[in-house]
Amino acid sequence: MILNGRALSEQILQDLTIKLSLMNRKPGLAVVLVGEDSASKVYVGSKLKTCERLGIHSQAVLLPTGTTQANLESILIELNQNSAIDAILVQLPLPKHFNSREVLQKISAKKDVDGLSYESLGRLVTGDHQWAACTPSGVIALLQANQISLKGKHAVVVGRSNIVGRPMALLLEKENATVTICHSHTENLSNYTSRADLVVLAAGQAQYFTAEYFSSEAVVIDVGIHRLSDGTLCGDLHPSAFDKVKAYSPVPGGVGPLTIAFLMKNTYLLAKLNGK
Ligand code: NAD
Repeated sequence: MILNGRALSEQILQDLTIKLSLMNRKPGLAVVLVGEDSASKVYVGSKLKTCERLGIHSQAVLLPTGTTQANLESILIELNQNSAIDAILVQLPLPKHFNSREVLQKISAKKDVDGLSYESLGRLVTGDHQWAACTPSGVIALLQANQISLKGKHAVVVGRSNIVGRPMALLLEKENATVTICHSHTENLSNYTSRADLVVLAAGQAQYFTAEYFSSEAVVIDVGIHRLSDGTLCGDLHPSAFDKVKAYSPVPGGVGPLTIAFLMKNTYLLAKLNGK
């Protein structure tokens, strides 16, 4: 079975359109992009386009690669004070000369739409959060929409970044799954993935996970996005696994559209929490 993220994303955006039409004032999202990374430019472009479609006010802050840490931080502090902006997203990865961790802490916790500040991550760990990182939130929504039960199941998350792997593991645990986190130092990775009911792939390794990594009963969520030399997009999952596993999310058309839908949903939620 193919888990269709695009259809679910469309449904979420349509529900949001109705909710947004009932608001007194448009929510505002600022997207900050530093540098010339072509993939990041495409992602930012589709985020802004979706804002326009939904009637969410958006502000793109496009900065040259040479921007300094101090300059970027002062822009974030200004955005924190801007009453037209409810949500702030810094497109990652930042160019290498930035201390990303420090940059992310400059976003006010009340506007931290991707849940990456220490306060947001702390709330997620304690289960005291009202929203979480967009991509893992989209994965949970995809599983729920397809009635894939998580309670008591063994979920393996491959990857431990703060933006995908770690919040993903916490959200799965909150759904009462038993969670194992694997990463680049895990020995005998297939020992874990082949015994899992659910595998979330967020390793960032194009088509790395072949059929042998999974049981035929596994549900596989593919978070990875890569552009192959012929221009096509693929994920971390190798095509040899498509016919073997019980269900998988495709790339494109799986988790990607849901990340954008949850960016919009979280922006709406932050605006409501900020009293709009
Ligand atoms: P990252 O590079 O920060 O983290 C990758 C993680 O995978 C690390 O924890 C590393 O230890 C682990 N890893 C790498 N190679 C491995 C291997 N061979 N075996 C086991 N573990 C391995 O990446 P990230 O920001 O978490 O993103 C992961 C992937 O998801 C990337 O392809 C990225 O483009 C994609 N992504 C997609 C969306 C979306 O909307 N679909 C959103 C964010 C990220």
